[in-house]
Amino acid sequence: MKWGQNVAFAACLALAASCATEPETAPGHDWAIALHGGAGYFGEEDYSEAEQEAYRASLQRALDWGKAQIEGGAAALDVVEGVVALLEDDSLFNAGRGAVFTADGSHELDASLMDGRDRRCGAVTGLRGVANPIRVARMVMDSTEHVFLSGAGATAFARERGFPEVPDSYFDTEKARIRYEKARADDKRGTVGCVVRDRHGNVAAATSTGGMTMKRWGRIGDSPVVGAGTWADNRTCAVSATGWGEYFIRSSVAHDIHSRMAYAKESVLDAAHRTIHEEMGNLGGDGGVIAVDRDGRIAFAFNSKGMFRAFAHSDGASGVYMFGGEGGGNTAGY
Ligand code: ASP
Repeated sequence: MKWGQNVAFAACLALAASCATEPETAPGHDWAIALHGGAGYFGEEDYSEAEQEAYRASLQRALDWGKAQIEGGAAALDVVEGVVALLEDDSLFNAGRGAVFTADGSHELDASLMDGRDRRCGAVTGLRGVANPIRVARMVMDSTEHVFLSGAGATAFARERGFPEVPDSYFDTEKARIRYEKARADDKRGTVGCVVRDRHGNVAAATSTGGMTMKRWGRIGDSPVVGAGTWADNRTCAVSATGWGEYFIRSSVAHDIHSRMAYAKESVLDAAHRTIHEEMGNLGGDGGVIAVDRDGRIAFAFNSKGMFRAFAHSDGASGVYMFGGEGGGNTAGY
């Protein structure tokens, strides 16, 4: 199946929720990468041309870096960590620098990553004063017997392992402050994530976020919760999610996609579509996922108006998209 057919196939799936797929006929890829910069209710009218260019350029930069790493033989786990760290450094996104404000005017950071080879994983929530939460999550995975650290403990762990402390003002951006001042607790766009199938046949996923504007009481969304916002398993796929975290937790989005593939033998595109548009969507939530299966097939599915997203694979196809109508629509496979 060629690129155009993939898009047509994606459009068919977008139109008919139960459109059957034939996974055997969709080609796999030697390597594949997909990344996201958050989902939300935004369309072309919400961004100036200059802003659109800035977002696309940023996604393209992260994509190019990831591609170069994979082509050089890097492991999926290292690539997803590196791509997410780059996006954390970019103040356009709600992760690392640019993270949204909590109700008390500070920033609490969440991140997780997972290795599809053996389902080892690491996660942090409520982390403060560390520029790259995804690297702390990796450290939890690599150097402790735990998988998930929280709050003051996670921050103390980061210090102990040598992560320099950055002042809270490092995370502040005008955009996040305006949202905070308008108290737009519903504004969730900007979480970042990456999934990769490397040249060795392994998959990995990583996700990082500042969470929801105005969050309080130690609220935790799906992004640091393995099985909800992040999942990777060489038997099936790697998934990173973005959207209204409570709904993603309630439907275990990332693991649900894995389960559909493992037990119901659905393709990654069908599984992503059904989990987002039916399972999670029917509860009333919104957002989306990027996923890659063990053979390098990529799937995007989102029921929000837009999702910042990008992909590339070894057959030379690639794309950077923001809005619903681009790149084959709200459910698309490549
Ligand atoms: N899922 C994140 C959360 O609920 C937010 C987002 O993806 O934009 O914390």
